[in-house]
Amino acid sequence: MNIPCLDLKKQYSQIKQEVLARFEQVCEDTAFSGGKYVEQFEKNFATYCDTKYAIGVDNGTSALHLAMLALGIKEGDEVILPANTFIATAWGVSYCNATPVFVDCDADTWEIDASKIEAKITPKTKAIAGVHLYGQPFDIDAVKAIADKHNLFLIEDAAQAHGAYYKGKRVGGFGEMACFSFYPGKNLGAYGEAGGLSTNNENYVKHIHSLRSHGSTVRYYHDEIGFNMRMGGLEAVSLDVKLAYLDGWNSRRKDIAKMYQAGITNPKIKMQAQPEFADSVYHLFVITTEDRDGLMKYLQENGISPGLHYPVPCHLQKAYTHLGYKQGDFPNSEYLASHCLSLPMYAELSNTEVEKVIAVLNKY
Ligand SMILES: *Cc1c(COP(=O)(O)O)cnc(C)c1O
Repeated sequence: MNIPCLDLKKQYSQIKQEVLARFEQVCEDTAFSGGKYVEQFEKNFATYCDTKYAIGVDNGTSALHLAMLALGIKEGDEVILPANTFIATAWGVSYCNATPVFVDCDADTWEIDASKIEAKITPKTKAIAGVHLYGQPFDIDAVKAIADKHNLFLIEDAAQAHGAYYKGKRVGGFGEMACFSFYPGKNLGAYGEAGGLSTNNENYVKHIHSLRSHGSTVRYYHDEIGFNMRMGGLEAVSLDVKLAYLDGWNSRRKDIAKMYQAGITNPKIKMQAQPEFADSVYHLFVITTEDRDGLMKYLQENGISPGLHYPVPCHLQKAYTHLGYKQGDFPNSEYLASHCLSLPMYAELSNTEVEKVIAVLNKY
């Protein structure tokens, strides 16, 4: 028996009939791009996020790009974001010819370290993009206080945190906009590629509707240079089906996380610190250990396939060598990258499988 880091097949077998029935409906209606099924999902997702609006797009990276465009981020501007995130948080900034400015994470929560942000602010800084990493909200109030003080926009990258709570309120409505990914492996993942935004500001909605559809509000009349970043109908109905299950799946992820947290007693293993304010949806369950590669090999030998999120922090990626960062700039992010490993985490894991992972880790 091998326990993978993620297995989407078990979930599919659970919802197969429902999804295929909805796919048939989209095909009968030939509503493949945008249209009523996307609108329906947008309404349901806004309700879920407790925001006034949600916008469906073609993937999470586009959501970040569109958010930056809607804020007017342009060449010469700077946007602050954590060094330890999936690279796409930075892409949106780079696509606008602006500069991503990285900050280190906290040594224990692994979330953006609010106390290190102010030193990075310059007259060019326009926004801060915080990331709810691994499904756990960052300290939004602390980051927002800095954004407000310096007149900067706050964006949430919630690509890993659909349904997470910060101080009792769902993520997605704390900043100007929040960006979501519905990549198949995310907590809410489409059958295909998809992404979305949530916001309470109608002006952003109108602009993004235009930008995602060729800069046009009236067909074949183009007000600005736009993009083709629409969500597909098939993706939208798959998301609508899954949205109804999301809280249940997230709750099962929390139970699994509790089992890991209580069961793993090996002092060689460290877990993500959980502040009182953060109610995580455990997109990933990341641990650190001194000899990461050794533990990786040991787990594989014992029928467990861990993941690695992420091996290289953004500031040391080859794509960003021109920004001039070097090893040693962000010690906490660099430590995480070279010592982290992701345990199996998905709602369909059985207790027996979780117990096996715990037992194997405790014997290490
Ligand atoms: C997945 C992810 C994205 C990008 O989403 P895609 O749908 O893959 O384009 C952005 N930011 C974070 C933190 C992510 O995990």
